[in-house]
Amino acid sequence: MVVKTELKNFIDVEEIQNHLENTKEPEPKKIEAIVQRSLDKNRLEPEEVATLLNASSYEAKELIFEGAKELKQRIYGNRIVLFAPLYIGNKCINDCVYCGFRSSNREVLRKTLSMNDLETEAKALVSRGHKRLILVYGEHPLYNADFIAATVRKVYSVKEGNGEIRRVNINAAPLEVDDYKKVKEAGIGTYQIFQETYHPETYKKMHPRGPKSDFLYRLYGLDRAMEAGIDDVGIGALFGLYDWKFEVMGLLYHTIHLEERFGVGPHTISFPRIEPAIGTPITEQPPYQVSDEDFKHLVAVIRLAVPYTGLILTAREPIEIRREVLKLGVSQIDAGSNIGVGAYSTEDKEAYRKSQFSLGDTRPLDVVIRELAEDGYVPSFCTACYRLGRTGEHFMEFAIPGFVKRFCQPNAILTFFEYLNDYASSETREAGLERIREEISSIDKPEIKETLLKYCERLENGERDLY
Ligand code: SAM
Ligand code: SF4
Repeated sequence: MVVKTELKNFIDVEEIQNHLENTKEPEPKKIEAIVQRSLDKNRLEPEEVATLLNASSYEAKELIFEGAKELKQRIYGNRIVLFAPLYIGNKCINDCVYCGFRSSNREVLRKTLSMNDLETEAKALVSRGHKRLILVYGEHPLYNADFIAATVRKVYSVKEGNGEIRRVNINAAPLEVDDYKKVKEAGIGTYQIFQETYHPETYKKMHPRGPKSDFLYRLYGLDRAMEAGIDDVGIGALFGLYDWKFEVMGLLYHTIHLEERFGVGPHTISFPRIEPAIGTPITEQPPYQVSDEDFKHLVAVIRLAVPYTGLILTAREPIEIRREVLKLGVSQIDAGSNIGVGAYSTEDKEAYRKSQFSLGDTRPLDVVIRELAEDGYVPSFCTACYRLGRTGEHFMEFAIPGFVKRFCQPNAILTFFEYLNDYASSETREAGLERIREEISSIDKPEIKETLLKYCERLENGERDLY
């Protein structure tokens, strides 16, 4: 039996509002000093983050954008990790007012993948070159821990051509500690739970029915995951439900809470904006719609606020915004995504009716990879840290001088090279090889260069999965 103890709400609404109230119209000098603290690898304090959020002059905002770019370049370099979402089932007993899967929505077609469907979907993704997936589930008794663990195992078992899925992350409802243990045993990477809004009153309105209406149970969802031994957890807020500045502060408070309790903050932070969803009127005009300008501002502030954390930008956003926001410190994006349940492997004309919302960037993986290469990034499918038992890889990149140059950059290049050999169109291959040549020639340590070239040769001779 599960005994529920009283949980303390660590989101102090009044304190957050005071921070935001007391830091209005900051001087550029003040911003400069805060950005410098972040570049010196410090996680920022609430008052500092409120100050950055309140920057309103062109000059002050430019300092923040430039700081975020500099931090990304200095600590993480130009790698972008790629993944795809795989929706397992859209049944749901909650009624989140912004979501196409909400229980009272009669327009959505409900579907849950069978194990055979799942295998076919995973094969379709592997055959396009994916190595990292996030499995996504509605909240429903069918999607319990045993089911989630079985779907994870199924995905890992799929082999297609030269490829396989090497890291499976999860976005699902919060669980109890023993249930998280079952899911962990199946070998998951990150467990993601978005709080949606950190503002309790708004939370109540947005989640009128079902288990998700319990704000605190969800707020402590990732505490339980960490108690169960899942080291990599992902937090997020759904932007558009409440004031964006408040939500960024909420993400920061959540980070600080995890740091204080477990000695380490979240592995990733996500910042989805509300997208239109079928049969879901609130999504046509979200109550606190975030403009593109404010969106860029908030991503740059999150980058500076928590320098050790991976930032995820999804294909909800349109192509041009993705391109711009990428520069501000994003480390992972999804590409070639399709969020209709079962839609990777079938030409389903009704796929949109099985989708949670609509996507802004529906380009195939190959096209996204080509654009990344042309823009000077190294697309990466690397999963080395996680498979070597090094969880919290962003933390290593951040904390250990030289880690990125010695491990991350060469591994990113190897997985990119693998992709180009096995899956790329001729145009993408050409752009990608050119990018790899540039990247290798910029490596200043001869021993790293030599090892990397040897590994590339082994890949060319047919070996795979080298790191
Ligand atoms: N059902 C689980 C839950 O709610 O935690 C799993 C995740 S749900 C399928 C994935 C995420 O999609 C939600 O946490 C929410 O932030 C986001 N989402 C829901 N409706 C959305 C919409 N209309 N536009 C953009 N994102 C949305
Ligand atoms: Fe269900 Fe998750 Fe959608 Fe809420 S956000 S209705 S819990 S799928």
